[in-house]
Amino acid sequence: MTERLYYHDSYLREFEARVVDTADEGRRVYLDRTAFYPTSGGQPFDAGQLNGVRVTEVVDEGDRIAHLLDGALTAAQVRGEIDWVRRYDHMQQHSGQHLLSAAFIEVYGMDTVSFHLGEAVSTIDLEVAAIDPDQVRAVELRANEIVCENRPIAVSYHEAGEDLGLRKESDREGVLRVVSIDRLDRIACGGTHLRATGEIGPILLRKLEKVRNTVRVEFLCGLRAVARARADYDALARIGQTLSSSLDEAPAVVAAQMEAARDGEKQRRKLAADLGAYQGKELYDATAPDAAGRRRLVRRQAQGVFDDIRSIAQSFTAQPQAVYIGVIEDPPSLLVAVSADAGIDAGKVLKSALTEAGGRGGGSARMAQGSVPTKDLLEKVLGHF
Ligand SMILES: [Zn+2]
Repeated sequence: MTERLYYHDSYLREFEARVVDTADEGRRVYLDRTAFYPTSGGQPFDAGQLNGVRVTEVVDEGDRIAHLLDGALTAAQVRGEIDWVRRYDHMQQHSGQHLLSAAFIEVYGMDTVSFHLGEAVSTIDLEVAAIDPDQVRAVELRANEIVCENRPIAVSYHEAGEDLGLRKESDREGVLRVVSIDRLDRIACGGTHLRATGEIGPILLRKLEKVRNTVRVEFLCGLRAVARARADYDALARIGQTLSSSLDEAPAVVAAQMEAARDGEKQRRKLAADLGAYQGKELYDATAPDAAGRRRLVRRQAQGVFDDIRSIAQSFTAQPQAVYIGVIEDPPSLLVAVSADAGIDAGKVLKSALTEAGGRGGGSARMAQGSVPTKDLLEKVLGHF
């Protein structure tokens, strides 16, 4: 049975221990005692080293704790050292989670049904259908007030079954480890916790997400919250710089710019359509009719999109006895438009020509478009009109 040193001293960073068993050729090590916290109760494992060999994972096997190493360990006696930056971060998030869950109850009576302490962000799931932003702000403020009050956080041991006034009933039997925040919260928990709420540092509530019957609240505590606020400020400052606006005005300026861009695009499309109408008429006038009186124009371009060609084709074929063919070489495609009196069904003729050439497309009797696999095949399709 491994003695769990972190139960009694969550600030213990270094320790000496005896190797009692190994497996996996010395890469899976069991000690008589350890300060390494194994993944359990929602808190991730501690990293660190045993005699200088890196610990890659710590597993709770019930009575024993397995230390998984990235090299073999042969010594009988070890000196262990946990990665304190990582552990202290976990302590800030975990104590912060207890405080936050209690604050949601204190302010709005909202229960936490589950939580997750993640590598980047952590979440709690609240047993409510919805939360409005004002409620989030109120709880965030209350939680940070309790941080500022620097209330003691204590660990105590009790027999299960006693009336312990816990936030959430525990189904464990025997001795319960209870973590309490002075005048706020009591809950059974095996995690590593801070000595007082002040060490949690700032608590930031961020994204809300509806998950089944709960609302998932993303939160960050301590130095994570500081790093996040710094990244947020940097991003917002860049946006402000680009817009030449203050940070507070940036959202309104962005909304106004988006609106202006949408208006501009609408205007551009209308002008392009107007221009296409003029060009179509002009091209019709400049195209000589053949012996049958039909005006047929093939216009080629290296690249482009049909949207720009369509209004020209429409205008051209609004005139009598007209056939307009727009050809784009890359990707090889074409658009065919005909006047009502041209005596050709553009959709039908193009479809059969495309099928023959291994291409695809179609359209109405007056206008159709399609594509072919290679540029050479365009000429074959053109021959049908
Ligand atoms: Zn806990």
